[in-house]
Amino acid sequence: MTKLSSIKSILEEKKKLFSVEFFPPKDEEGGQRMLETASLIQPHRPDFVSITYGAGGGTRTTTMRYAKILREEHGFEVMPHLTCVGHTRDELLEILEDFAQAGFGNVMALRGDPPKGETKFQTVPGGLSYGSDLVSLIRENFPDFGIGVGGYPEKHPEAPNKQIDLANLKTKVEAGADFITTQLFFDNQVYFDFVKQCEAAGMTIPILPGLLPVLSLGQVRRFCTMCEARLPTRLEKSLEAAEQEKQPAVGTQWAGEQVQGLLKGGSPGFHLYALNKSASTLAILEGIGRK
Ligand SMILES: Cc1cc2nc3c(=O)[nH]c(=O)nc-3n(C[C@H](O)[C@H](O)[C@H](O)COP(=O)(O)OP(=O)(O)OC[C@H]3O[C@@H](n4cnc5c(N)ncnc54)[C@H](O)[C@@H]3O)c2cc1C
Repeated sequence: MTKLSSIKSILEEKKKLFSVEFFPPKDEEGGQRMLETASLIQPHRPDFVSITYGAGGGTRTTTMRYAKILREEHGFEVMPHLTCVGHTRDELLEILEDFAQAGFGNVMALRGDPPKGETKFQTVPGGLSYGSDLVSLIRENFPDFGIGVGGYPEKHPEAPNKQIDLANLKTKVEAGADFITTQLFFDNQVYFDFVKQCEAAGMTIPILPGLLPVLSLGQVRRFCTMCEARLPTRLEKSLEAAEQEKQPAVGTQWAGEQVQGLLKGGSPGFHLYALNKSASTLAILEGIGRK
């Protein structure tokens, strides 16, 4: 029951795409909050929403459950994420079959991060080692799926250098990815340079910029350490100067300006890491006049 990828066709239409990322809630209360956020964002008609897949495969059921609710009760085009962490090839095929049976036409294919407490990604016996392996598995077995992959404008933290990381990204693209969504970044020039580098390396699929509306100085410092993204001095100083409860407004303003600059500079749209919260997303959409 797999249907043709609508995300791919939206990107081919070259209209500016807007998408929002949710994560599977830990409990019912978190689920309610997430669905309230979804209800507030729904009137703005994102082109798709995605829902992440937790470390160790622990969110297999929750990812599927909320992916279905987001589609059936909110009418979103939903792209579930899938990672290789802790799964054999056969389990991954089972999960993909579940996605297909449930009528999802797109999947974000990732290697995943090591589970909590572990520092190095371990391939399980009979499992896959890289995002590109998962892309190949999907292409071979579910040729109609639309496939998104992650890209790292400031280099993936484990890659020895940018050239090698780009070559590895190219392998993932050549395995059959339809589009790239980037890791968060706070300086648009980083994105524009990355797009040029990908093009120079022969990658022609759309590259959707992923943006995090910052909620606090502590949060952004943690994220930047984790994914090795550069925190611009101006943003850091503005956050330092703001009282705790004003920091989300600083983050929203920054992300809003990033969105405007990216769209003006020719990005195919933008993807918001909304963290199951609506305020920043709604303010950003208002700022660009997307009602
Ligand atoms: C848009 C987006 C969404 C995400 N969603 C999730 C999610 O839902 N759940 C989650 O757990 N994590 C998620 N992540 C985080 C992601 O899982 C981590 O960044 C992870 O460390 C890398 O996953 P990947 O698929 O990009 O890895 P890969 O593309 O496999 O790359 C991982 C590392 O291996 C290197 N590499 C790749 N191929 C080869 C090769 N053939 N030989 C040697 N080295 C190679 C790369 O250069 C890189 O350093 C997301 C990231 C992004 C950008």
